[in-house]
Amino acid sequence: MPLDADAIIIGGGFYGAMVACYLAGERGLASVILIERESRLMQRASFSNQARVHNGYHYPRSFTTAYRSRVNLPRFMQEWDSAVRSDFLKIYAIARRNSKVTAAQFVRFCETIDAPLAQAPASVASLFNPNLIEQAFVAKEYGFDSERMRQMLEARLSGAGVHVGLRQEATAVQKESNAVRVCLRSIDGSTTTSVLARQVFNCTYAGLNLIDGPHGRSHARLKHEITEMALIRLPPALEGMGITVMDGPFFSVMPFPACQSSTLSHVRYTPHTAWTDTPERNPYTELEAHPRSSRVDRMLRDAARYLPSISKASYQQSLFEVKTVLMKNEGDDGRPILFESYPELPGYSTILGGKLDNIYDVLGHLDTLNFQHYP
Ligand SMILES: Cc1cc2nc3c(=O)[nH]c(=O)nc-3n(C[C@H](O)[C@H](O)[C@H](O)COP(=O)(O)OP(=O)(O)OC[C@H]3O[C@@H](n4cnc5c(N)ncnc54)[C@H](O)[C@@H]3O)c2cc1C
Repeated sequence: MPLDADAIIIGGGFYGAMVACYLAGERGLASVILIERESRLMQRASFSNQARVHNGYHYPRSFTTAYRSRVNLPRFMQEWDSAVRSDFLKIYAIARRNSKVTAAQFVRFCETIDAPLAQAPASVASLFNPNLIEQAFVAKEYGFDSERMRQMLEARLSGAGVHVGLRQEATAVQKESNAVRVCLRSIDGSTTTSVLARQVFNCTYAGLNLIDGPHGRSHARLKHEITEMALIRLPPALEGMGITVMDGPFFSVMPFPACQSSTLSHVRYTPHTAWTDTPERNPYTELEAHPRSSRVDRMLRDAARYLPSISKASYQQSLFEVKTVLMKNEGDDGRPILFESYPELPGYSTILGGKLDNIYDVLGHLDTLNFQHYP
């Protein structure tokens, strides 16, 4: 039976685009198709996120995630050099109350993962309310420009000869002989078609369980959150800084190079609503129906208790997106990848990325697969 492609990747976010580049470029598959329902690549979670290149600091409760971030960071920095922003001062501050980590524990944790950490200079420490902040540190952390990364990925996909099908939605996958058929519908509903390949990778993140097939659903329990990140312009006193208060119901400010502004997120206010993945609730439909009334006033009010000058920030707009995480990481906030295969549908795999840098954990796993004899 003639195949339409060696591999089909569903989902043109960072993960799907990277997997497509890898298969066509590094593994030499002759024909690779990438399917995306939006009119451009990287418009969903890969754009609407906090743009933090993780370096471990964020995960004092998950050693594995912290350690993997430390391992993956140098490769990320090298590969995305021209899309990474490093010209800002990154501050981690530890709250005195309601924090799951003390300053001493944070220092020990950073030593364990060998992440550079220095006491913040007095000029920075004095920005914080000493009654609520135990200590502030200077860390080494970076931001990425997802718009620039999209441009770089588009050039790479084109160079590797990947066929990109935009405004196409995969609706179902079926077993056909020893290959997988992917049923497609155009976004305007005007056409349906299907394509056949030996291997199919579902990289649709929030949409992971929306594609029908004999495999059923992911074996892992997923949680979806509708998240709000506010885009703000920082007041002069905080310009050129990224600030994260650890580790509990606090806030974080990061540069957002794609819009030349900063994101403000707050553990208490950023998730507007959350639910355990179920066939009855389509995350994309839920997001569309969600009333987008901003909580930036509450984010700023609470953040200003710790960092008074942030009350002078000006609000621009909010990014709303679905965040999908593994239920098993509820307690430790870890962000491993999920790579699943299904005996009912050989050749079909689902991939959920926890954060951008652990794409290299996915590529490392793909390295171990022999596509000549796969499935
Ligand atoms: C609020 C928030 C903050 C975050 N902060 C960070 C951070 O600071 N640093 C970090 O590294 N990570 C962060 N993350 C996580 C990171 O954004 C995700 O891990 C990453 O973007 C996942 O990439 P992806 O390609 O799997 O998903 P996406 O970018 O969502 O791509 C999936 C694509 O699949 C498409 N799709 C879905 N269903 C179908 C279908 N049936 N057919 C065709 N196409 C389909 C979608 O349109 C989408 O483009 C954050 C996430 C959120 C939501």
